[in-house]
Amino acid sequence: MRALVIGAGPAGARCATRLAERLPGAAVTLCGAEAALPYDRVALGRWLSGACAGADLVTHPLAAMRTLGIAFRPATPILALEGQEAVTARGERLPFDRAVIATGSRAIRLDVPGAGLPGVVAYRSFADVAAMRRSEGPAVVVGGGLLGLEAADALAARGLEVTVVHPLGWPMERQLDEGAGTLLARRLQRRRIRFAMPAGLAAIEGEGRATHAVLSDGRRLPARLVVMAVGIRPEVELARRSGLAVNRGILADASLRTSREDVLAIGECAEVEGRCIGLVAPALEQAEAAAATLAGEARAWAPRPDSASLKVSGTAVWSAGEIAPEAESVTLHDAGGDTYRRLFLRDGRLVGAVLYGDTAASGFFLDCIASGRAIGSRADLVLGAT
Ligand SMILES: Cc1cc2nc3c(=O)[nH]c(=O)nc-3n(C[C@H](O)[C@H](O)[C@H](O)COP(=O)(O)OP(=O)(O)OC[C@H]3O[C@@H](n4cnc5c(N)ncnc54)[C@H](O)[C@@H]3O)c2cc1C
Repeated sequence: MRALVIGAGPAGARCATRLAERLPGAAVTLCGAEAALPYDRVALGRWLSGACAGADLVTHPLAAMRTLGIAFRPATPILALEGQEAVTARGERLPFDRAVIATGSRAIRLDVPGAGLPGVVAYRSFADVAAMRRSEGPAVVVGGGLLGLEAADALAARGLEVTVVHPLGWPMERQLDEGAGTLLARRLQRRRIRFAMPAGLAAIEGEGRATHAVLSDGRRLPARLVVMAVGIRPEVELARRSGLAVNRGILADASLRTSREDVLAIGECAEVEGRCIGLVAPALEQAEAAAATLAGEARAWAPRPDSASLKVSGTAVWSAGEIAPEAESVTLHDAGGDTYRRLFLRDGRLVGAVLYGDTAASGFFLDCIASGRAIGSRADLVLGAT
């Protein structure tokens, strides 16, 4: 069997590896649009801050892929699938029997005047971080979500002056309620990260390269580096051009098959049961399930509640499930100890949790949310025991 995996991010690289291991006779090809070897995208912040070298992020060295018999083709974006052939951007035609699309997401870039100036980058890829590492700042990070805060912290660790511009009154509002978000902003301010909130980016000024970020309230912040961390969108262009069914992501069933029987979709580009994932653990699970499907096993992938933690040193923040202000909630706040916990309940069951300062009970709360079990005493629950 000729198996073609398109996209050499974490999901694609894992799937290619598992296919090569499970189907020793198969010819497995892994095509990536990026020039780099498959690397740990989740750890980009460590390289950005200077905690490790870029080479340390490589997860699949060439020699290991060769040993498994995987033909790796970097800098080879696939434009479309035509019948049993994949057409590359250079016009080559790669034949396949089964294809797995793992094209991930692309970072959204705000379409403001000056957005195309040198010095304006996204925070998504090896090349983005290489560009960020070349800058001496000052830096403006647009977006105070998980990625924006991680970028701001890493840039501050490099000694750059950093301001985070965020449209709401507290950061990470998708994962944190106002209480935890306010504590987090205060903690980061002590690490010399400034916040402009609530505020939006109106334009980027500069002659030849970015020099200022102009905010919607008219403020002008000096900015030699502007990092857009405003969200991601599933990368579905290849699927669209190939006539596959696409909604927000590439539609796939529980065994990761798309509308075309011999083509699967996994990771952030896929939409399964109405959901596109944005985390690495489920992307890797889908990669395992897709390899099993192609090896002839009936293995279904089922979504679990999302959980997220902030990777900023000295700051423990975790959340899972629904952050549902309209739901009943229980809060535990130890202002002296700088810990905060808020749990969201509906119909006597835990549906979401925010932990700040002390995240040791995260596994317990995730289990309560995933199992949907009935909650007895709220006091016991908030202490992490029921
Ligand atoms: C800085 C950063 C930190 C993160 N931290 C966390 C974290 O702490 N925890 C967590 O769970 N998740 C985190 N994430 C998200 C995590 O990285 C993603 O969930 C994961 O990378 C998804 O893997 P993927 O393989 O589906 O997609 P991607 O990693 O996006 O890989 C897709 C690959 O396909 C390539 N591609 C696209 N189109 C084509 C084409 N037409 N032809 C060939 N190749 C193509 C892309 O260039 C890319 O290399 C982080 C992301 C970033 C950017």
